[in-house]
Amino acid sequence: MRKYVIMGVQGSGKGTQSELLAGDLDLVHIAVGDIFRWHVQQHTKMGAKVRRIMAAGELVGDDMAESVVRERLAQHDWNYGFLIDGFPRNGPQALFFLESYDIDGVIYLNLPDSEVRRRVLNRRLCAKCGMDYNLISNSPAVPGQCDTCGGELITREDDTEEALEVRLREYHEKTNPVLDLFRRKEYVVTADARPPADEVQQDIREQLGLPPYKPNGT
Ligand code: ADP
Ligand code: ZN
Repeated sequence: MRKYVIMGVQGSGKGTQSELLAGDLDLVHIAVGDIFRWHVQQHTKMGAKVRRIMAAGELVGDDMAESVVRERLAQHDWNYGFLIDGFPRNGPQALFFLESYDIDGVIYLNLPDSEVRRRVLNRRLCAKCGMDYNLISNSPAVPGQCDTCGGELITREDDTEEALEVRLREYHEKTNPVLDLFRRKEYVVTADARPPADEVQQDIREQLGLPPYKPNGT
């Protein structure tokens, strides 16, 4: 059983690296932001509560974030382990997490803020299958259309200059201390997030002593 937390600033590639890692290792990828976005899309009660907070780039309340994590992990569909992305994001969430679960490691994706802006403001998302595109490094074959499913490419509501400013501020103020806490517990491996995704993946696996990444899944 392997239990990891993946951390990194907006656009550092948490989602991409999590998917690559989860694939052949059979880990369940839990992205707290995706769960909230699902609630917004489905117009649930929770979705109504978090919609505006998210669009502004602010953090939703700890009670709500913690209950989402608790309920998700209580499903126990993670026989081989999990990889959690987007939690914990502040001191209280970190305490809750460390009290409730033990983890094997923290993966920290390191990316300078200048690169964050470039990546996030050029990010597009398939409205149908959720696939991520970047108009600079990874643009779709047909503009505005998903290569895999043909769905429409949209911009995340919080990928605007203004909301990004708030998200980065929240990150540096609240999430950096969580990283320091994990560092003191000697959980953290740091990967440079600037190289191409498969190289970053290889780096993470080497540092964690995991089997190498094989792009074609063999
Ligand atoms: P990013 O890391 O790119 O800002 P996420 O997809 O992880 O985006 O999260 C999107 C939004 O969901 C956050 O800006 C915040 O409003 C909310 N959110 C996600 N995780 C948490 C959390 N642990 N605590 C509070 N709010 C959260
Ligand atoms: Zn798609």
